[in-house]
Amino acid sequence: MNSNEYISILNSELTIIKGIGEKKQSLFNKMGIYSIWDLIYKFPRSYEDRRTFHTIDSAPASASCCINAVIRGNVIEKRLKKTMSLYILRVEDSTGVMNIKWFSSPFNKHKIKRGMKYSFYGIVEEAGSLKEMVLKDMEPCGEQNLIGRILPMYSLTQGLSQKDFRKALSFALDKIEVIYETLPNSIVEKNSLMPLWDAVRQLHNPTDPDILSKARYRLAFEELFILILAMKRMRIISNITTQVIARDTKCAAEFAGALPFVLTDDQKKVINDICTDFKSGKPMNRLIQGDVGSGKTVVAAAAAYIMSKNGYQSAFMAPTEILATQHYHAFLNFFKNTGVTIGLLTGSSKNKDEIISNISNGVYDIIIGTHALIEDRIKFKKLGLCITDEQHRFGVKQRARLSENNAYPHVLVMSATPIPRTLSLVLYGDLDVSVISSAPAGRQKVDTFCINETLRSRLNGFIEKQVKLGQQCFVVCPLVEESEKIEAISGTQMFEKLKKTFPQFNVAFLHGQMSAEEKDKIMKDFRDKAYQILVSTTVIEVGIDIPNATLMVIENAERFGLSQLHQLRGRVGRGNNKSYCVLVSDTRSDESKERMKIMCHSSDGFEIAQKDLEMRGCGEFFGTRQHGVPELKVANLFTDLPIVEHAQQVCDDILKLDPNLSSENFTNLRNRIDTLFRTFGSIEIFN
Ligand code: ADP
Ligand code: MG
Repeated sequence: MNSNEYISILNSELTIIKGIGEKKQSLFNKMGIYSIWDLIYKFPRSYEDRRTFHTIDSAPASASCCINAVIRGNVIEKRLKKTMSLYILRVEDSTGVMNIKWFSSPFNKHKIKRGMKYSFYGIVEEAGSLKEMVLKDMEPCGEQNLIGRILPMYSLTQGLSQKDFRKALSFALDKIEVIYETLPNSIVEKNSLMPLWDAVRQLHNPTDPDILSKARYRLAFEELFILILAMKRMRIISNITTQVIARDTKCAAEFAGALPFVLTDDQKKVINDICTDFKSGKPMNRLIQGDVGSGKTVVAAAAAYIMSKNGYQSAFMAPTEILATQHYHAFLNFFKNTGVTIGLLTGSSKNKDEIISNISNGVYDIIIGTHALIEDRIKFKKLGLCITDEQHRFGVKQRARLSENNAYPHVLVMSATPIPRTLSLVLYGDLDVSVISSAPAGRQKVDTFCINETLRSRLNGFIEKQVKLGQQCFVVCPLVEESEKIEAISGTQMFEKLKKTFPQFNVAFLHGQMSAEEKDKIMKDFRDKAYQILVSTTVIEVGIDIPNATLMVIENAERFGLSQLHQLRGRVGRGNNKSYCVLVSDTRSDESKERMKIMCHSSDGFEIAQKDLEMRGCGEFFGTRQHGVPELKVANLFTDLPIVEHAQQVCDDILKLDPNLSSENFTNLRNRIDTLFRTFGSIEIFN
C-alpha cells in the first residue's frame, strides 16, 4: 500500500466496511466517528479480564469467571413476562454439573447442541446444592473471541452492540495493515516508547495487562506531547504585537467610583492586571478564575469600559441566551449615565440586520451575545476586546476567527471552574490567570442540608417561610418530563405538585426545551418578583444572578455531579439575606452520600472541584473540547501528570534544538499537529 492509498483508507467513510450501511454508519456518526481513522482512534472505555478458567467445582461464588463445559441438556425456556424469558441450560465438566441461565436470549438457542463443548463467562452463584452461572457470554470452546482473553468494552450509542463495534474495528485494522509512526524514531527509542501501530492494536486487543499499560502510556504520551508542543509553538508565535493599545487606563477608577458598591481588593487587582495588559502592546490572553458569586462580571464590564474610552469595541459572549440577556441588563445598569452604548445579539434577536450593521458601523461600544457573535457575517468596526463567560467554548477557534478581519484583539475568559495550575498550562499554554478568591463583603455562607423524602412536609414549610419573608426560591429537577428509564422526579411533575401545595403563590417552570424568548420572559418575570417559586431544570446552572432568591432546592440531588451542585447552589446567597440550599435525595449509594456530605460541609469551590476530580476522574470535568483544543482520547490530564511532565520535558528538548520542527524527521508529526489543530481554527502553528 502506498501512502496515498493509506491516507485515502484512513479518511474513508465507514460504509467501506462489510456489514455497515448508511443506517449503521449514522449510529457511528452519532458517536463522533466518521472515518476509519476515527474508528481506530475510538479506544475502549474499560476491559474485562476473561482469562481465568475454573472447573465447575472450583468456581468461586459471586465472582465472574470462565468455564469450559459440555452441554448436557436442551435449552429450557421459562416465560416470565410477555417480553421476557428465563433460559436454563444444564452443562457438565469432569468435576460436576451446573445450570447456566440467562434472560431474554441474545444467544441462538437452536445452535446450542447437546454434547458440544462451550466456553461460558458469567457470575457463579450457589443455588442450593447446584451451582448456577448468570451468563454474560458463551461461545464454542477454543474460539477465544469473547472468552479466554482480555475483552475491550467500548462506550457506544443505543442500537450499536459491542459485537458490531468489534467487527467493524477488526475489519478496519486489517484493512490499513499499519499506522505510520508519528513520532520520530529518535524520540520513540530514546524514551522506550512502544511503536504506534503495536500500541493501537494492543489497546483494542490486549494480550497482557503490563503490555496494555505500556501501550496506553505510549498513546497518552503522544497525545500530550502533541498538545503541549502545539501550545508551546503557539506561545512562541503569539509573541506577536497588537495595535490595540489602551493609553488611558485611569478611567478604570472613574468607572469603579460610579458603581453602587465598592470593588473588592481582588477585583481591583484583576482590573489592574488587565490595565497592564492593555497598555503592553501584546495581545492579552487572561483567565479570570473566581468561584461562583465572586463578582467576575463587573470586572469584565470595567475592561469593556476602558476599551470604549480608548475608542475600541468589546464583544462579550455567554454560553446561553439567558445569560447573555442577563449580562446585557447588568451592563445597562453599570453603564447608566456613562454614554457607553450597548447592544444585544442572540439567535432569537428580531432586528438582527440592524444590530449587525450597528456593530459594523461602530454604533455599539459593547456588544453582548451568544455564539451568534462569531458568525462570519459579523464584522466589527474596531474590535479591541473579546470576553467569554463561564465556558471556554470560544477558546482558540474564536480567537483566530475574530482576528481575521481585525487587529488582534485582547481576550478575557471568565470561569468558575478552578483548574490546577499545571493543567491550565497544558490546556491554555499562554494563558495568564488572575484569581478572585474573596467574595464581596457581606456575603454569607449558604447553609446546606441534605434531606430525604420523609422530611418533605418540613421542606414545604420552609419554602413557605422564605417566601413569606419576601424572598424567592428555586427548585431544580434533573429532568423535564418523566422518563421510564430514569427514576427521578421531573420538572413537570414538580411544577404541578408545587402549584397544588402553594395555591397562594405564583410558581413558574423553566426548561431547556422552551424557546429563548419564553425562557427570557420567565427569568425576567422571576427577577421582577412576579413569581415566588421557580421550578427549573439545569438551564439555570451557570451564571444566573437573582439576589432576592435565598433558597435552592435540588431534587434527586444524587443525579448531579459535585461541581454541578456547587454551581447550582451558587445561584443563591448573592444578596444580603441568609440563604439556604436543600439537597433532596433518597439515595442509598455510598458515593452519592459522600457527595452530599461534601456539599454540606464545604463551600469552597476549589476544594469541591478537587473532590470531584478524585471521585470521578477528569473526563467530563476537563472535557478538553470545551477549552478549544482537540479532545484527548487516551490521556487523562489529572491522573497522567507524570506523563504530562515527561512529554513536557521531551518537548522542551526538541524545541531547543529545532524550534520550527523543520527537520525531515518531524514531517509526520507536523502534519498530525496541523490536521488536529486546523479543525479548531485557522491558527498556523508553524511558520
Ligand atoms: P460571578 O463571579 O459568579 O459571575 P457575578 O459577577 O454575577 O458573579 O456577581 C454576583 C453578584 O455580586 C452580582 O449581583 C454583582 O452585581 C454583585 N457584586 C459584584 N461585585 C460586588 C462587590 N464588590 N460588592 C458587592 N456586590 C458585588
Ligand atoms: Mg457569572
